Amino acid sequence: MGDVVPFKKKTHAEKHKGNTLCREGHHAWKIDKEGQFDVKSGRLVTIYICKRCAAIKNTLS
Ligand SMILES: [Zn+2]
Repeated sequence: MGDVVPFKKKTHAEKHKGNTLCREGHHAWKIDKEGQFDVKSGRLVTIYICKRCAAIKNTLS
């Protein structure tokens, strides 16, 4: 429930013109927001975004 990480929806075409590494799960993470307070977990989290495909993860996941 609380730990679902949202991913940007992309069309089929957008996904496939993207990077092969991303499709294999090797994303190019960069810090999007550092030290965000996550209300659900009561902790500070850092949010990462992939600079190639815009997938998102955070330090809780
Ligand atoms: Zn990616």
